[in-house]
Amino acid sequence: MVERVECVVIGAGAIGLAIARALALEGREVVVLEKAGQIGTETSSRNSEVIHAGMYYATGSLKATLCVRGKEMLYRYLPEHGVHHDRVGKLIVATEPDQLASLERLEKRAPENGVNDLAWLDEKTAKALEPELNCHAALLSPSTGTLDSHGLMLAYQGDAEDHGAVIAFNSPVVAGWIEKDGFLLEVGGAEPTQIKSRILVNSAGLWAQEVARAIEGIPPETIPPRYLAKGCYFTLTGKPPFQHLIYPAPEVKFASLGLHVTVDLAGQVRFGPDVEWVDKIDYDVPAERAAKFYETIRHYYPGLKDGTLHPGYAGVRPKLQKPGGPPEDFLIQGPAGHGIANLVNLYGMESPGLTASLAIAEEVLSRLDGS
Ligand SMILES: Cc1cc2nc3c(=O)[nH]c(=O)nc-3n(C[C@H](O)[C@H](O)[C@H](O)COP(=O)(O)OP(=O)(O)OC[C@H]3O[C@@H](n4cnc5c(N)ncnc54)[C@H](O)[C@@H]3O)c2cc1C
Repeated sequence: MVERVECVVIGAGAIGLAIARALALEGREVVVLEKAGQIGTETSSRNSEVIHAGMYYATGSLKATLCVRGKEMLYRYLPEHGVHHDRVGKLIVATEPDQLASLERLEKRAPENGVNDLAWLDEKTAKALEPELNCHAALLSPSTGTLDSHGLMLAYQGDAEDHGAVIAFNSPVVAGWIEKDGFLLEVGGAEPTQIKSRILVNSAGLWAQEVARAIEGIPPETIPPRYLAKGCYFTLTGKPPFQHLIYPAPEVKFASLGLHVTVDLAGQVRFGPDVEWVDKIDYDVPAERAAKFYETIRHYYPGLKDGTLHPGYAGVRPKLQKPGGPPEDFLIQGPAGHGIANLVNLYGMESPGLTASLAIAEEVLSRLDGS
C-alpha cells in the first residue's frame, strides 16, 4: 500500500526543517524524509555557525535579501525558543593598504542591502577594541553573531512536530515519478516503501541535484551542475585572543568569506574555512595544512604561536559557482523554473543558508502559493 500525504520535504538539515516547520504552521500535513538516522548530520553541522549581517552578497540577490530578512527573523526566534546565541559583532579587517578598497566597496554596498549599522574604524580604534589585531582599518558589523546550529534545528523540529509534522529517519529517497495528482517517491533503507505526496520540496543539500535526477519527469536541463568546495577548520588551544569575530577583507572573486576567526558558544576558537575545490565529499582535515593556516592568520593575528593550531572539522559547500567563476545566487526553483506544479527544488544552498533559513522557508511557501 502506498502512503499518501499532502507534503513531503526531502532532507532534515536546517533548511529542510525550517521549510517543514513553515508548512506545518500553515496547517499542512508534512512528512520529512531523511536518509540519516538523525537531523542535521551534513552541512548544517559543518559550518561556522555565524549569523551573517548580509553585506557581502550582490544587491537584490536572494542571498542578500534572504540573509537580511533571515537574520532579523532569527534574532526574534532564537530568544523566544531558548536557542543559545550571541550578538558578538565582527571586524572585517584590511591588513594591507591595497585591501582598503575592498572594505570601501562593502561599506557602500551594505545600506543598499539593508544593512545600516556598519562602522568604519581606523587602525587605532580597531586596535583599542582588539589589541592582538594587526590592521590598517576595519569595518565593525555589530549585527553579526553566532548561534548553536544544533539547538536551532531542534527548535525547528520541535515546532514542526508540535504542528503534526513527522520526520522519517533512515529514509533515503532513491527514485520518484511525477503523476497527474502528485509525486510518487520510492524510499530505500532497511524497509523500502513508497509514499505519494501532492507537494514536494527537495531540500537535500549537497544531494539536491542527485535527488532531482532520480525523479523521472524533472527536465534534466533545469538541474544545474553542482560544484563542491571543501572548507577545513583548525581549532586553537588557549584563551580566545579576540572579543569579536575577525574576518579578512574579501577578495573580489571570493568563493568564501576568507579564513576567519570565530569563537563558538563554548568558548572554543576556530579558524577557517579554507577553500579547496574537490570532486568527492570527504571530511578529513589534513594536519599538514596547518602551515598555510599559520601563514594566512598571522597577517591579522601576528601573535599566533607555533604549535597552537589543531585539525578541527570540515564542511563541503554545495556550489553553483564554477571553480574560478563569479559568485552564484541560491536557486530556489519553483514551477516557473521547471514547469511542474507543486514542486520546489533548492540548489546551491551554501552560506548564508543557516542565517537565511527562516526567510528561505517563507520564499519556498510563496513559490508554492496556490498549491
Ligand atoms: C564550510 C561552511 C561554512 C558555512 N558557514 C555558514 C555560516 O557561518 N552561516 C550561515 O548562515 N551559513 C553557513 N554555511 C551554510 C549553511 O551551513 C548551509 O546553507 C545550510 O546548513 C544548508 O542546509 P540544508 O538543510 O540545505 O543542507 P544539509 O544540512 O546538508 O541537509 C540536507 C539533508 O538532506 C539529506 N539527504 C540528502 N539526500 C537525501 C535523500 N536522497 N533522501 C533523504 N534525505 C537526503 C541529508 O542527509 C541532509 O540531512 C556554511 C556552509 C559550509 C559548507
